[in-house]
Amino acid sequence: MKKPIRQAQGKRVFSGIRATGRLHLGNYLGAVKGMLALQETHDCVFSVVDLHTITTPYTPATLQESIRNIVLDYLSAGLDPKKCKLEVQSKVPEHVELAYLLSTIYPVARLEDLPTYKEKKAQYPKYVNMGLLFYPVLMAADILLYKAELVPAGVDQEPHLEVTREVARKFNSMFGETFPQTQRFHTNGEYIPSLLGTGKMSKSIDGSFINLTDDLDTIKKRLAAAPTDSGTVGGELPKEGGVANLFKLLKLFESDSMYKKFEQDYKDGKIKYSEMKPIIAEAIYKELKPIQEKRKTFEENPQLVDQILKESNEKCLQIAKETMREVKEKMGLA
Ligand code: ADP
Repeated sequence: MKKPIRQAQGKRVFSGIRATGRLHLGNYLGAVKGMLALQETHDCVFSVVDLHTITTPYTPATLQESIRNIVLDYLSAGLDPKKCKLEVQSKVPEHVELAYLLSTIYPVARLEDLPTYKEKKAQYPKYVNMGLLFYPVLMAADILLYKAELVPAGVDQEPHLEVTREVARKFNSMFGETFPQTQRFHTNGEYIPSLLGTGKMSKSIDGSFINLTDDLDTIKKRLAAAPTDSGTVGGELPKEGGVANLFKLLKLFESDSMYKKFEQDYKDGKIKYSEMKPIIAEAIYKELKPIQEKRKTFEENPQLVDQILKESNEKCLQIAKETMREVKEKMGLA
């Protein structure tokens, strides 16, 4: 009897992270924490999206190493190959094939209007390529290839998920019910601000992030460089900027009582950031230390990592091929 591909485990989940650098707290809190929760109850595919990585400037000679680092970060953060599937996007070529087919039913003007495209254009004015414009279509294909209903991701991905839903609706209306309306899976850390005081924490913005692999000293140094105020302002906590960002990290990593203490100090105009920052650093490091220890065991066992990727890849290919068969048939290509 043919084995059913879809596990009885529940709804399908997909999420991916670009191989543009080491994972940082934003990726961890906004995406990986959601992945960790969902792998317990859902049928999950988690990807290193290397084809998205090459839409912004990168170094070919170190790309494989960057991909490996994300895989190691995934495994050490607790993604468990017994509970989820891990893929490297380019090793499942159906992502690209489906993206092309979906691009034929989606308007260019809508892509040109997306905030993420405009931001990247401004960030890399000399690197505005077709792939960058095409990014949301490839992302829609990433998700729909697995018919994923949930995507654990940060709030920055919401416009892309809207594109995914539009693509799915359009496909369903033109060729018959095929794809789900994918929703984002929220975590408490769905938007982690940059340490620089404005914008989001991002791998591609130097000084904005704390990496999962940072030691205590590095975390302290990164936080020490984060902007604050004179400490004598007093009144209500600001809603944005360096101080607001520090309080956000304090809330995510420290106890309520510690948060309330510093909030009161702020209100009274006597807060000492030189006291608050090391406390945040220690709390972050406490959460990262076991992840870093686990990373060492995977680093020392590359064959195990290769084996995990090989087995997972085969399972992913099986699902991908089934979707492509259905899509091509419905579009009249088979
Ligand atoms: P980056 O912008 O750092 O290169 P990616 O684009 O690879 O990160 O995003 C990978 C995942 O991490 C996505 O789900 C994204 O929403 C999430 N993410 C990225 N930055 C943040 C952040 N600052 N806060 C919360 N989630 C984030």
